[in-house]
Amino acid sequence: MKYINISHPEQSVSFPHAVVTGLGKGQGLFFTENLEPLDDVRALLEIDFVSRSAIILQHLVGDAVATEDLRSFVKNAFDFPLELVEVAEGVHALELFHGPSLAFKDFGARFMAQCLANFSTGHKTTILTATSGDTGAAVALAFYDQPGIDVVVLYPKGMVTPLQEKLFCTLGGNVRTIAIEDDFDSCQQLVKQSFDDIELVEKIGLNSANSINVARLLAQVCYYFEAVARLPAGKEAVFSVPSGNFGNVTAGLLAHAIGLPIKRMIAATNENDTVPRFFNSGKWDPRPTIATLTNAMDISLPNNFPRVLEMGDKHGLDLRELLVSFAISDDQTREAVRSLDTIGYLADPHSALAWKALTDHK
Ligand SMILES: *Cc1c(COP(=O)(O)O)cnc(C)c1O
Repeated sequence: MKYINISHPEQSVSFPHAVVTGLGKGQGLFFTENLEPLDDVRALLEIDFVSRSAIILQHLVGDAVATEDLRSFVKNAFDFPLELVEVAEGVHALELFHGPSLAFKDFGARFMAQCLANFSTGHKTTILTATSGDTGAAVALAFYDQPGIDVVVLYPKGMVTPLQEKLFCTLGGNVRTIAIEDDFDSCQQLVKQSFDDIELVEKIGLNSANSINVARLLAQVCYYFEAVARLPAGKEAVFSVPSGNFGNVTAGLLAHAIGLPIKRMIAATNENDTVPRFFNSGKWDPRPTIATLTNAMDISLPNNFPRVLEMGDKHGLDLRELLVSFAISDDQTREAVRSLDTIGYLADPHSALAWKALTDHK
């Protein structure tokens, strides 16, 4: 399987190359050349999470990684539980926060760490990542103490929670952190700029562990299959996904593209609503990022959106049918946390926001 630079399709590389370089020429994102459906998804849903995930990833990666290697990456990376909890009749919470950094980013970051440790032996690697909160912790913990790897985390000063800040700023060792006096989009911009400096990239083996990196994206495909495997049979799933950089939504669409039955994806955003406005008006009109209660989603330039469009344009996904996007205000989020609490489910604001979008637009 080849990985193509969406912005410069003449750049075509292997999966390990895409993982090691992170971003393609001209800041382009890598994406699979084709998306063929998996054989016998029904049988796949019957087997255990690790075995199934290894098969899914092999399908997406091709023969560039040996089967036994891929299986061991998956086994080492996905070594914590995930839960599917029924919140109300027919509505479930897919709890992806039982890993070391308490965010779903552990799936992607830990799988990527496994890949990099294997693909870049003998070279120095510097992970430069921008975070609006949760990525920093997941990446720092996944790469902490890994020989030959340095980690630098950029984050918007005052826009991450004190707990998140402690999770990545107190590790020390090979993890360095820089607070930027601006918003997340600026942090992300600084990362992208660094990648344009070819000399710098080569000298320090620069790599981004943002959801820009395909390894992170592919890992996330696996838990959509697990959710469907655990749901009662006979009904098509609708996923409501709290969205910032749109990595998680992209992974869900990818899962669908390779054969997972999904009826609809709801990309729920906070008031940083570039995508819902784009769907309404057809205009891409990002506004300055504002701080909200759901800080992991305080992003107005969602990095993964070109991949979403690519799936529509090039891989024949019917985005109009499959994907809707709604913005939820902080007041609605607060109210949703309270309503969920009254029905016995303690939700963080991000999950509550997604639940609100789901119940409003089911
Ligand atoms: C990262 C994160 C999001 C946003 O996910 P994207 O893939 O960037 O859209 C939402 N909620 C939580 C809790 C997160 O950590």
